[in-house]
Amino acid sequence: MASAKVPDATVSRLVTYLRVLEEMERRGVRRTSSEELAEQAQVTAFQVRKDLAYFGSFGTRGMGYSVPLLKRELRKILGLDRRWRIAIVGMGRLGQALADYPGLSQGFEPVGFFDVDPEKIGKRVGSGVIEPLSKLDEAVRERGIELGLLTVPAEAAEEVAKRMVRAGIKGILNFTPAVIETPPEVPVENVDFLAGLSRLAYFVSRNIREEWVG
Ligand code: NAD
Repeated sequence: MASAKVPDATVSRLVTYLRVLEEMERRGVRRTSSEELAEQAQVTAFQVRKDLAYFGSFGTRGMGYSVPLLKRELRKILGLDRRWRIAIVGMGRLGQALADYPGLSQGFEPVGFFDVDPEKIGKRVGSGVIEPLSKLDEAVRERGIELGLLTVPAEAAEEVAKRMVRAGIKGILNFTPAVIETPPEVPVENVDFLAGLSRLAYFVSRNIREEWVG
C-alpha cells in the first residue's frame, strides 16, 4: 500500500480514473494506456503515472494497463472492494432523495435513516423506515454503520455531527453549508453543490463577456 502521504488531489483523481475505467469496461475495452486514461480524465499522462506510482506499479512497459485489473486495484486502494454501511441523518427533501438513489447500492448500503420530526418517524424510505435520532447509537453499534450522510438544516449540523461521532460513525459526508469540526480520526467530506453552481456561473459569465469583447 502507499508509503508516502498521498495528496487529497490524487485521491480525487483516482476516483476519476476509476469512473473512466468503468466506462471503458462498459464499452468492452480491455487494455488502456496512461495517455488514454489521461485524456479522458483531463490530466497529463505524467500525472496519471505519478498518481498510480504512490501505490505500486500496475502496468507493463509498452503494454499499458489491463482495464479490469487496474479497475480492481483502484477499487481496493479506494476502499471500495467491500460494502460500507451508512446512516442518513436528516430525512427531509435531500435525505429522502439520497435514500431512494439507486446509485448508492454500488458499494454502499444505507441501513439507518434518522430524523427528529415525529411526523416523519415511521415513514418508509429507500430500503427502510425513518427512526428517531435517539436510536442512532444503538443502530451504529448493532448494524455496523461506519459512514454517515448529514442532511439536516445548517443550524443543527454541528450538534448532530458531534452526536454522529459520539455514536461511533467513522466518516461524515456533509451536505450542509455549515463547517463541521470533528476529531482528526473522523474525516469530513463536504458536498457543496451551490459552490459548484457559483463556479459555473463565473465560467459561463466569463465566456459571455469574452463573446462581447469578440
Ligand atoms: P429539509 O428541511 O427538507 O430537511 C431537513 C431534515 O432534517 C428535516 O426532516 C428535519 O426534521 C431534520 N432535522 C432537523 N433537525 C434535526 C436534528 N437535530 N437531527 C436529525 N434531523 C433533524 O432540508 P433539505 O432541503 O433536505 O436540506 C438539508 C440540508 O442539505 C440543508 O443543510 C441544506 O442546506 C442542504 N442542501 C440541500 C439541498 C437540496 O437540494 N435540498 C441541496 C444541497 C444542500
